[in-house]
This record gives sequence, C-alpha cells and structure tokens, in this order.
Amino acid sequence: MARVLVLGGGFGGVSTATQLRRRLADEHEILLIDRSSTFVMGLRKLWDLFGIGSIAQGTRDLRALESQGIRFERREVLEIDPVRRTITTHRGSLEADYLVVALGAEPRPDLVPGLSEHAHNVWAASGVPGLKAALAAFAGGEIVVAIAGMPYPCPPAPFECAMLLEDQLRGRGLRGGFGITVTTPKPILLPNAGAEGSAWLAEQLVGREIGFETGREVKRVEAGVLDWGDARREFDLLIGVPPHRPPRVIADSALAGPGGWVTVDPGTFETGHQDVFAIGDVTKVTLANGLPLPKAGVMADLEGQRVAAAIAARISGAEAPEPFDGRGYCFLEMSASTAALIEGEFYSRPEPRIALADESAEHAQLKHRFEAERLESWFGG
Ligand SMILES: Cc1cc2nc3c(=O)[nH]c(=O)nc-3n(C[C@H](O)[C@H](O)[C@H](O)COP(=O)(O)OP(=O)(O)OC[C@H]3O[C@@H](n4cnc5c(N)ncnc54)[C@H](O)[C@@H]3O)c2cc1C
Repeated sequence: MARVLVLGGGFGGVSTATQLRRRLADEHEILLIDRSSTFVMGLRKLWDLFGIGSIAQGTRDLRALESQGIRFERREVLEIDPVRRTITTHRGSLEADYLVVALGAEPRPDLVPGLSEHAHNVWAASGVPGLKAALAAFAGGEIVVAIAGMPYPCPPAPFECAMLLEDQLRGRGLRGGFGITVTTPKPILLPNAGAEGSAWLAEQLVGREIGFETGREVKRVEAGVLDWGDARREFDLLIGVPPHRPPRVIADSALAGPGGWVTVDPGTFETGHQDVFAIGDVTKVTLANGLPLPKAGVMADLEGQRVAAAIAARISGAEAPEPFDGRGYCFLEMSASTAALIEGEFYSRPEPRIALADESAEHAQLKHRFEAERLESWFGG
C-alpha cells in the first residue's frame, strides 16, 4: 500500500488528488492537507466584484472529497523534508511514499511601502467586499489598476479587471466621469503573449479609452499618489496587484530554488528529489525565451493531471506518461458577457507560440463552462 500526500487543496492539489483517486486502487491512500477547509475558484474574485457571480458559488468544502475516498486533514504545514518525504504540521508529522507540493503563491503587499494602506487588493478574496463598496460609493475620478510587483497569478487578470470595470461603469451610465489606467513594471503589457499579443491587448484598451503605462515599477504608494521613482501619478482609487512570493514553508525548505520557488523538471514536474513533485503557482518553470511559465489555475490543473498519471504509473509499474507539452490557454474577459481566447504552446522554441481568438460571447460561455466542469468533476454536483 502506498501513501500519496498532496499539500495544498487549491487548483493544483484538488486536480491531482481527484485524478489520482480515479487511477489508483482503493488500497492506496491519498491524503490531502490544507490549512483551510474550503476551496475557492480564483477567477470568482473578479466575477463577484463586477456582479457576474459570487465567490460563494465557486467555493466548495474540501471535506466533500472524503466521499470519493480522498482523506482530507486540515493542518498547517510547518516544515517539509523532501529527502525523507516527511512533513511537520501543527498537529504532528506525516510520512509519504509520494509527495505532491501544491501550496500556491502568497500575495505580499507588504513588500511595496504603502500598498497595503492605500490600495485595494482583490488578489485576496478578503479584499473584494471593500473594493465593491468603494466602487459603489465612488462619484468619479481616476481609477488606476497597478501591477505593483512580479510575479502574480493570472497575468491577464489586471487587464480583465480594467475592462470589466469599464464595462460596468458604462452600463451604469457613469463612464464619462471616470478615467481608468493600467500600469505594469514590464516593458510590454502581456510578456507571455509576446509583442504581437501585447499590441493586440493595447488596441483593446485604446478602443475602450483605458489608458496604460508600461515600465512603471511601483516604489511606494502614498495617499492618492503612486511613486515610480522617476515619476509620480495621482489617483482617486487604486486597485493594486501585489507581488507574490512562495509560502515561507517552501522558502525555508530544501525544495527552494532561486527566489524561493520550487524548480521542477518542466516535463514531469518532479523536483530534484525522487518521488517529490511540485505543481502550480509555487513552481518556477523558465521557458526558452527566459520568461516564466504563467501562473494560472489552468496550468496547475494540467500539471496535476500529468503528475497524477506519473504517480499512478509508478505505483502500478506501468510506463511513464508522455512529458507535459507546455500547452495551455486562458479566456480573457472583456465585458460581463464576452471574452477572447488566448492559446499558448509555451514550450515552443525559441519563443512560445501564441494564438489569439477575438472577443465573443461564446468564449465567455466557455469560461463559465471551464469552471463548472471542474467543480462538477472535482466535488460532484
Ligand atoms: C483575481 C484572479 C483571477 C484569476 N483568474 C484566473 C483564470 O481566469 N484562469 C486561471 O486559470 N487562473 C486564474 N487565476 C489564478 C489561479 O487562481 C491560480 O493560478 C491557482 O489557484 C493556482 O493553483 P495552485 O494549486 O498552485 O495554488 P492555490 O490554488 O493558491 O492553492 C494553494 C493552497 O495551499 C494552501 N496552503 C498554502 N500554504 C499552506 C501551508 N503552510 N499549510 C497548509 N496549507 C497551505 C492554501 O490554503 C491553498 O488552498 C486567477 C487568480 C486571481 C487572484
């Protein structure tokens, strides 16, 4: 009998655990650990903010996985020893035959002076009600969506946020009274989509009269002012996307690579330690063009599926599955009822190959289906 320990009940961890359960005989134990007993769909934060759906509708109880034969224990992981495949938690230690680390990335607004005090952070679900109330009470002025540091999950989401905001204000007949600007520290808007994808996104923003500024690194935030070091920008309301960092338990462990992220084999997602895998936002996979593989739920899910197949094959003595091919996609929401589709072959050399399919109602419906299918397949109806 083997025990697979999955750390993290987010997108990657739940995908891995549910896929493994379908592949492994009942005698093998799958134990999922998370500090929280709820799973929350990341994309719901913007849906809740703009009245497209609620966070509650995309929230599930991880204990529901027990009915499928996945053990769930609510524990805080304090230490990981990848050599012995042992973890220490606030309620004792656990050993595993196979370890899958899917602990995500943490928003760190504290790394940018003034960001916590002066910006709304909707990269954390707790920030959504405050911004919703502020927008409802806002009479007009300059709204800035600032990418305040790299990396952050879901690279297109700040631009989605700006376009959904524009759509909502126009719908409320208030558009004339607001200016909206997105700022990024990067030289182009969406580095993972390349120069062409970024130029396409710029056109979409211009068409909506949304301003944008590239190469703007936020040094500090003061009341009503963004300080970029060489220039300053006033705002009336700031939506700040904080830099993200690996959880401390990872940075303090032997799994930590450059910047504290977990380095993995891009084809297998195995770490440098035998039978220890890492997937999702906690990893850093560097592409042929030097950019990182985007942090996104869709990637964490696909990586989890590959890792589940590999562990099941090892346990049964079957041949290893094909390496992960680096293909992924995302639906970029452009209004409450439309989205574009961005598809990427991220492992292509010398550059990722990106295909863009224009704004349509069908793509927005596909995004809703993407979410519904995962909730259904992971947690049941
Ligand atoms: C506003 C917004 C919009 C987004 N939109 C999209 C989208 O449209 N499409 C898309 O694909 N992605 C989207 N994402 C990104 C997506 O949510 C993440 O990339 C995805 O959740 C990453 O999955 P993960 O499993 O790596 O980490 P997570 O889902 O973050 O899960 C990590 C889990 O580990 C647990 N954990 C961490 N540390 C510990 C510890 N020490 N002990 C115990 N438990 C711990 C956490 O509680 C958490 O449950 C969006 C994100 C945001 C913020």
